This record gives sequence, C-alpha cells and structure tokens, in this order.
Amino acid sequence: MSTPTPTPEALSTPDTRKSLVGMPRPELAEFLRSIGVPDKEIRMRVSQLWQWIYVRGASDFSEMTNVARALHAKLDEHATLNRPEVVREQVSKDGTRKWVLRMPSKGPHDKGAEVECVYIPERDRGTLCVSSQVGCTLNCSFCHTGTQKLVRNLEAWEIVSQVVFARDRLGDYHGRTPPEGAFVPNDGGRYVSNIVFMGMGEPLYAYDEVRAAIGVLTDPDGMQFSKRKVTVSTSGVVPEIYRLGEDTGAALAISLHATNDALRDVLVPINKKYPIKELMKACADYSGASNARRITFEYVMLKGVNDSLAEARALTRLLRGVHAKINLIPFNPWPGTIYECSDWDQIERFSDVIFEAGYASPIRTPRGRDILAACGQLKSDTEKMRARARMMLEEQLALGTD
Ligand code: SAH
Ligand code: SF4
Repeated sequence: MSTPTPTPEALSTPDTRKSLVGMPRPELAEFLRSIGVPDKEIRMRVSQLWQWIYVRGASDFSEMTNVARALHAKLDEHATLNRPEVVREQVSKDGTRKWVLRMPSKGPHDKGAEVECVYIPERDRGTLCVSSQVGCTLNCSFCHTGTQKLVRNLEAWEIVSQVVFARDRLGDYHGRTPPEGAFVPNDGGRYVSNIVFMGMGEPLYAYDEVRAAIGVLTDPDGMQFSKRKVTVSTSGVVPEIYRLGEDTGAALAISLHATNDALRDVLVPINKKYPIKELMKACADYSGASNARRITFEYVMLKGVNDSLAEARALTRLLRGVHAKINLIPFNPWPGTIYECSDWDQIERFSDVIFEAGYASPIRTPRGRDILAACGQLKSDTEKMRARARMMLEEQLALGTD
C-alpha cells in the first residue's frame, strides 16, 4: 500500500475523495476529464482503470503499473478505490454470509448508506443478493424491510460496490486465494456467479441506478456477469418491467404471492396501482422471454392466507401463456409479524399441484435463517440499535438524569 501516513489535520478532516469503485463508464470518463486528463486519453484511461478495478480487483492506484506515475498522484489526490466498510459480518451454519455494509461517504454531510448484502454458496453456484435501496417504501405486509423508516435509492456505484466487496472478501479474483474458512462453491467456478436484486428495496423504484449497475456488472471488459445470471425481483412496478426488458435483458422475478386482487392488495399493496391483469400482461410481453429464459414467480407460503390447494390451481391458471417457473418461499418470520409459515406438508401438496400442471416449482430452502439473512428479513439492526440508544437517551432525559 502506498498510502502515506495521515497527518493530524488529515485525521480530523473526513475523506471526501470519491471512490471510483462501481462508477459507470460515463461518470468515470467525466471524472477523469475533471482532473485534467486530456480528451484523447480518456477512453484508454477508462479501459485501464476498468481492467484494474474489475478484472484484477485492485484496491490501490499504485498497483496500476501501466498507468503513468503522474496520473497515480492525481488519482490519489481526488479519488479512492474504497470499498464499503463492514459494519457487521455474520456467518450462518449453512455457510450463508450476511454483511451490513456502510458505503463510502459521498461528501461532508453524508455518513454513508448502510445496507445489507447476503452471500449464498451452493454446490454449483454462489449467489449474491444485493440491495437497491436503503429500506423500502412499499410496505408489503409480510416483509420486514418494508417496516424500515429511512429510505433512499442507492446509486449505481453503491450497488456495484456490494459485488466488488463480496468478491474481495471471498477471494473471487483470479490468482487470489479465498480467505480462510470461506465456504465457497466447490465446482471450481466463480465464487460469485449469480446476482439477485432481492436484498433491501424495490429495484424498479431505483430504476435508473439499477439499470446502470447492471451495465457495469455485465460489461464484457469487466466483471462479465452474464445477463441471464443477473435477476431483478420486483413486487410489480409494471411500466418499469417493460423498460427493464428493453434496456437490460436481465432475468425477471415477480413477487406474486396471491392469485386474486383482493388478497394481493393486502399482501403487496402496489397491486392497487398495478393489478394482477396488468402485471401478467407485462410478464407475457417481457422482451426476450422464452422457454429457456423463464420468468420466476415468487410465492411466499403464508399459513391459512394464500396456501390452499384451490389457490395452487388458480396460480397455474393465471400463469397460462407465460414462460414461468414458480418459486415457493417458506415464510421467514421476524419479530412482531402477524403471519406464520405454512406447514411443510401443505407446502409440498401445494407444490405437487403446480408440478402436475407442468411447472417447475422448487421450494426455496430457507438459507441463513439463524442470522436473519433470509428473504424479507433484511432490516439493518444498526438502525434498530440506534433507535434503542435514542430511546434510552430520551428516557434518561425524561428522568432528569445528568
Ligand atoms: N422488493 C423486491 C425484492 C426484494 S424482496 C420484491 O419484493 O420482489 C425478495 C423476495 O422476498 C420477494 O419475493 C419478497 O416478497 C420476499 N419476501 C419478503 N419478505 C419475506 C419473508 N418474511 N419471508 C419470505 N419471503 C419474503
Ligand atoms: Fe419492499 Fe419487496 Fe419487501 Fe415489498 S417485499 S416491502 S417490495 S422489499
């Protein structure tokens, strides 16, 4: 590392340099222009930085041996290659890892967004579940994330930097060995092979940022994720489903959870704006949809609410004409929820009905339940801890403690 020892003044002034990690190409070009890189060099410099950041996993400008020394100094002065910081890491018995990450600050008034990111290793793949927002505004009644107060969209670089962070942490760069104890797929493939936008937030409410992030992730000269291995899960923001298909070609997952509007209005309130019929039309039209690229319909199993066999049959009728696979998600409880997970026998019977109608209907094995890392359980504990600290402080003030 070439970073000089910070002076006392430097220690008291927050680092306001921009991190280039995750920054889409046009912004990177703009940044280089702003620090005086001549126009005719910009393309080449962007390509060099791109290679170093995404292919080699560089974390310091001094590693960039083919970049002129004078430029190193300029880059150091105005930018960093900072990754998000780990606020907490939890490792489940099944190898799932949940990280609470704090993003590099965007400036003097920004403390850096805190989001969660989950890594799920399997025999043949490693899936990284990324967040697109801090919290979520949509309030689906069975989802913990929806109860988080503070909400903002993440920027593209904040989304991509979750992936760069995870690849770092797992040693997923050519020639770098994984850290001790890392539980990674054992087929010799990439440790992070699939990305799913199923963390905190509604990705299609952060549409422009998610689209730009997918551009960086699938860039053929960078991390080279295949579009088929990037899946965007949405509660059903219909207009953006059309755009997503046209702009990115990413795989699509729909959080359906009910087969009639009356129930879906309660479980997934955005249904009042975009009812099931409109949603299904958007799915049928999803550009590029074919048998090989089926849309995944997620269906959370809620005891006595949406798990009858009549509903299983209704589900198969609803999906007629759409290239679909169904993913049954056992409900993951969280403190204070009014819902319960369906009984296992009922989930299997429900799954049989769907299977007999000719659909694949894998039951999603709950992963990382012991660390609240499963779908819909993401809500930053640090926020809760802060709330608790505030409450204690208020109590103390009310008691007149000095
Ligand atoms: N906002 C997006 C993506 C994030 S949620 C969406 O809703 O699609 C990822 C998946 O987990 C969604 O299908 C969501 O409905 C589901 N989910 C939310 N809370 C859950 C819970 N407590 N148990 C099981 N699945 C849940
Ligand atoms: Fe938001 Fe998705 Fe949770 Fe609904 S299920 S509140 S859309 S994160």
